[in-house]
Amino acid sequence: MFADNPLRRKLDSGEFLHMVELVASARTTEEKLLEICSSLAGVDAVTAAGITSYAGGASGHDPVRTAVGAKERGLTPNIHLTCVYQDRRGIRETLEELDRLGIHNVFAITGDYPKDDTDAAVFDLDSVALVSMIDEMRAAGAPFSISVAVSPFKYTEPDCMYQYIKLEKKFAAGADFAITQLGYDARKFGELKRYLDERGIAKPVIGNVYVLSRRAAEIMSEGRPPGCWVSPELLERVTEEAGAEDRGRAARLERAARTVAVLRGLGYAGAYIGGTHNADQIRWIIQRGEELAPQWEACAEELVWSPQAAFYIHDSPKQPPKPLGLLHNVLTTAGKMFPVRTETVWRKLLRSASRWVHRRPRVEQVLEKVETAVKVPLFGCQACGNCVLGDMEFVCPQTCPKQIRNGPCGGTDNGRCEVIPEQACIWVGVYERAKAADELDDLKVFIPPPVRSLKGTVSWVNYFLDLDARPGHPKPGP
Ligand code: SF4
Repeated sequence: MFADNPLRRKLDSGEFLHMVELVASARTTEEKLLEICSSLAGVDAVTAAGITSYAGGASGHDPVRTAVGAKERGLTPNIHLTCVYQDRRGIRETLEELDRLGIHNVFAITGDYPKDDTDAAVFDLDSVALVSMIDEMRAAGAPFSISVAVSPFKYTEPDCMYQYIKLEKKFAAGADFAITQLGYDARKFGELKRYLDERGIAKPVIGNVYVLSRRAAEIMSEGRPPGCWVSPELLERVTEEAGAEDRGRAARLERAARTVAVLRGLGYAGAYIGGTHNADQIRWIIQRGEELAPQWEACAEELVWSPQAAFYIHDSPKQPPKPLGLLHNVLTTAGKMFPVRTETVWRKLLRSASRWVHRRPRVEQVLEKVETAVKVPLFGCQACGNCVLGDMEFVCPQTCPKQIRNGPCGGTDNGRCEVIPEQACIWVGVYERAKAADELDDLKVFIPPPVRSLKGTVSWVNYFLDLDARPGHPKPGP
């Protein structure tokens, strides 16, 4: 199936590979971008290029056009496909176009919230739903290879654990391999690998190696773009290095090469090199990374730029769960006393009642008002009509600015939301309640995207009449 796909071939061979990130930003002209593609295609050890799609929520070149240009110049594209600006229909059309163009490596991500044109944000799907859609198209014959993102560089328990839980969901949905967010902490690279090994998950993971300039370090030290972070100590070191005659060039390339060596030693499938488009620099990093591979443990000891109070799964003391609130306990008890998830007498009764209501629009309108009167103040409900509160520890996914239903995006910042930093990421609450209820494994269940046409209707009726989308009951329609 993947015979003509160099990236798949290399992954299947088990040989360490190198991918380069091509940032298709508006600051670079299209002509220049294509020139870069030609020069990168000339680096034998580069297997593919990640073509970004409006990275950091900023404007940029059309990634499909850039990917076509890269392919024509002999550089295999791994195109970033986000859920930011298109609904599921638009995304499917883009995938069909990619299939026609013979571009089959897709990096499926939710995407950064747009910085300027916030009205254009769509977020109809999340990354797990996107993987599931691509997997369906693959089953129908389009030979897509699906990569996904994961960030081990999360230093609080909920942020970190949920990244890994979500990665498991992505793999279960059909992802073939993962690429990490950037970070400068060998223990975290090792933690991710160990997490997967301990669970027998043998999917390849490629580690991010970002060539860190002083300017980039300054920006990332403020947590920008979302999910990227550089510690004050590393910023200080990079600033010092930038005082050298070469403005820190040799030091940053050496740091990148050492990170490549660490990834090799830890058993990663490859390195995803970003922060430079310069073919000579990339060639040097790759070669030096290979030379340093036998000393990878010494290199790992230097790659330790973490915050002071950092969570590591295997080393941090176990924190007791926080107590569950009264509301959670009441709702859970009610769910046990009146079970409706299976074909019980309660379900049959409520189905009949829902049918009766559904045939009477006025009654249904009144019920809709009752539902919102209860659920808006309690859960921040936005009447999406596809209620999954019971699958999300009674946290409403519509309160996430990206409407994600399957776990946090990569932009969480120590439990704070990427889009609205004044508020906690909603998934912190989901994780903490699931931990307290001993239901962490339940978080691995895929929650399909909602049927958007049900917005403003009674979710209770939709549930009992099977009109909605929920775990185990996906619906194709928008
Ligand atoms: S609530 Fe969490 S998942 Fe949603 S946008 Fe904010 S950080 Fe991302």
